[in-house]
Amino acid sequence: MPVGPSEEQTQAAMAKRNYPVCSALIARAMGGANQVTIDSREALERCCAAHPSLLVELPFLSDLGRVEEAYDKLGSTPIHAHQTPSAIMVNPELQLLDVDYAGLPLMFTNIAHRPQPQQGFVLVYRPPASDRIEIHEAHPHDLLALKIIAEDLNYRQLAAEHGVPLGHIDDIVYQAVAKGILIRPPSRIRRPDDFSTNAINDEQFISSPVFTLQWHITQQCDLSCRHCYDRSHRQAVSLDQGIAILDDFYDFCRSQFVHGQVSFTSGNPLLHANFMELYRAAVERGFLTAILGNPTSREKLETLLSIRKPAFYQVSLEGLQEHNDYIRGQGHFERVMRFLPLLKKFGILSMVMQTLTRENSGQVLQLAELLRDKADHFNFNRLAMVGEGASLASAGIDTYVDFLRNYLTAAKHNPIMGLKDNLFNLIQLQDGSDHFYSGCTGYGCGAAFNFVSLLPDGRVDACRKFDSPLGNIFENSLLTIYTSEPARQYRKGPRGCKDCTIRPLCRGCMAVMYGMGKDVLGAPDPYCFKDRIHHR
Ligand code: SF4
Ligand code: SF4
Repeated sequence: MPVGPSEEQTQAAMAKRNYPVCSALIARAMGGANQVTIDSREALERCCAAHPSLLVELPFLSDLGRVEEAYDKLGSTPIHAHQTPSAIMVNPELQLLDVDYAGLPLMFTNIAHRPQPQQGFVLVYRPPASDRIEIHEAHPHDLLALKIIAEDLNYRQLAAEHGVPLGHIDDIVYQAVAKGILIRPPSRIRRPDDFSTNAINDEQFISSPVFTLQWHITQQCDLSCRHCYDRSHRQAVSLDQGIAILDDFYDFCRSQFVHGQVSFTSGNPLLHANFMELYRAAVERGFLTAILGNPTSREKLETLLSIRKPAFYQVSLEGLQEHNDYIRGQGHFERVMRFLPLLKKFGILSMVMQTLTRENSGQVLQLAELLRDKADHFNFNRLAMVGEGASLASAGIDTYVDFLRNYLTAAKHNPIMGLKDNLFNLIQLQDGSDHFYSGCTGYGCGAAFNFVSLLPDGRVDACRKFDSPLGNIFENSLLTIYTSEPARQYRKGPRGCKDCTIRPLCRGCMAVMYGMGKDVLGAPDPYCFKDRIHHR
């Protein structure tokens, strides 16, 4: 066995050479560190011709040389920002090498590794916005993703031909995007340019990678809550209509370069006769799925899980037992308390939502404490005095900032407490913090931005909690509805918020404003305390 250089000598030699792995291997094979310097494919070929035994001992040397050539070429090219593409494209710096040996990339981290004969492909590329060069073997999914994009294949046709769900094709493409093999345009769900302020201009605050369809598939409900914002009678969506809606939503998400989330709600969505079929159809299209509903049976949860675990399951409580049951009906509190451990048992993320009213605002902290070990998340949202909710009183305006501060203090010691009210961000601003919280579906009010609500009869609203019609999905595509003038107006939010420093992170709540009889596009949320001094 030849006595080769030490590991340190090998590393030092590798750092100096253009083809470090080939150079080090050949040096080892020849028994010395600095006998050979390989700095080009020609030099490698000359060396192999002069020492034919090398190719006997290291038969993969030629393939390895091609991989190093690709690496060297990319390493000597200046890093430049890629132009923002208008469609998904193959990383222009990617090199795809067909090789006769498997395991070549491993040699870049372990020179003692020996590749084995097996035909395949090696990818050499620099992911976007990175100075790192990746070398790895191409997985069949990588090759399929490259083929799909390079040949502009039709996703639906491909899924049908291969007998796989449509979302499977998207997953393959998304994984290739995540690796940097493909480059995807940024999300088109973006705030208008005049939205960002000097203080708040971070990309995460002004664009959204996810679009949520809050889908009310039926008006049917097993409860009769006193604050219900919609008791109107509407025909439940049919299975065929539902499939067409999901297809339209799929096209919308593809066109906007976002991941779609379908939050099934109603009423109680699980009461829909075709709920499981609709849920499965959403999963098959690659959407994230969530449920906003009432407690259900173990059997229904098992069926759900056999399709796919929802991202979360949200139930509501309106305060401690007595008050909750007064609002939601006798025995409801106990049902929820029995249901939460079931969600935990099945590993489903549980969320509890409380609608904040004047009467139950004093119970929020106690309820959050009670749920500490029972639920994964607890949130409140302010009552929108709409529908049945108009008969309840909203939380006190003058005391609201103190309520938020007390909640914030408690949340520091109770990890399940979420901070969804946009006005928490006003406190952060006033306290000089640069840490901000996300609201209903992301930063700031999401109405007609990264979220719309869809009713069983096809009506689309900017937000379900107030009358904000944008159109009907049975008459127009979601894209047409989303780009309509009414949607644009709701996205802009109240004019009174226009010059506010934290506009991208807030805009109050238009549903609350609506319930108070205000012009939702006029003065800011009456609960806003921007012009009151509340610094601590
Ligand atoms: S003015 Fe509007 S954006 Fe600014 S804090 Fe008040 S509600 Fe929020
Ligand atoms: S209007 Fe209110 S409830 Fe609706 S998305 Fe905006 S902040 Fe959320």
